[in-house]
Amino acid sequence: MAFEKILGNENIKETLIRNVKTNTILHGYMFAGKAGIGKMLFAKEFAKMILCLGENKPCNMCKSCVEFNRK
Ligand SMILES: [Zn+2]
Repeated sequence: MAFEKILGNENIKETLIRNVKTNTILHGYMFAGKAGIGKMLFAKEFAKMILCLGENKPCNMCKSCVEFNRK
C-alpha cells in the first residue's frame, strides 16, 4: 500500500495515488511545510510509486522498489 509510513494527509495521499493510477502525473510537485513534518518521506514514497514497474504501485518487489527500499 502506498504511503503506509505516513500518517494523516489523506487528501494529499489520495490525490497522488489517483495521479499515478490514472497516469496524470504533473510536471512538478512541491512538498512544503515546517521542518520535520515528513516532506522528504512523502516525496520519496511518491517517487517510488512513479518509478515502480509492478501492477499495484508500489509493489515493493520490482527492481525499482527494491532499490528504493535498500537506501
Ligand atoms: Zn515496484
